[in-house]
Amino acid sequence: MINTQRIIEFLRGIKAPSEYLAVYFYEKETSPERICTTCTHVGTPTRQMAGRADIERTLWAVLTVLAIIYVSDLIVLHFTTFFLFRWLYKLTSMAGKIFAALSMAYTLIRISIRTNVCPKCGGASVIPLDSPLAKEMMQNRR
Ligand SMILES: [Zn+2]
Repeated sequence: MINTQRIIEFLRGIKAPSEYLAVYFYEKETSPERICTTCTHVGTPTRQMAGRADIERTLWAVLTVLAIIYVSDLIVLHFTTFFLFRWLYKLTSMAGKIFAALSMAYTLIRISIRTNVCPKCGGASVIPLDSPLAKEMMQNRR
């Protein structure tokens, strides 16, 4: 018997491709400490990628489904040349190319555009400690 709950849990556990790639590429990268202008927290900022992980995952999921239909349709076409299967072949071939380009572009954009965010409050304004404003904020903290 197929356990749907476990399948859903497994699918939720899959990360977006850019998240795997980010771990691979930026593992050794260390960023200096910065101060958050929102909550004055000092620490190593968290790197946040542009775009949304769920959109990226959806794009890759659609591509996977299209690829499965494409391959199975290719097998079916060996046995029949029924016009519906030929249409399906053309459709999945075309849509597959579009989604492949979209998915890859989205993943590349997410990896290349990354911003520093405060690990405490999630604020996007984190500035270097040696900037004049940071020095002023550090003095006010004491
Ligand atoms: Zn903050």
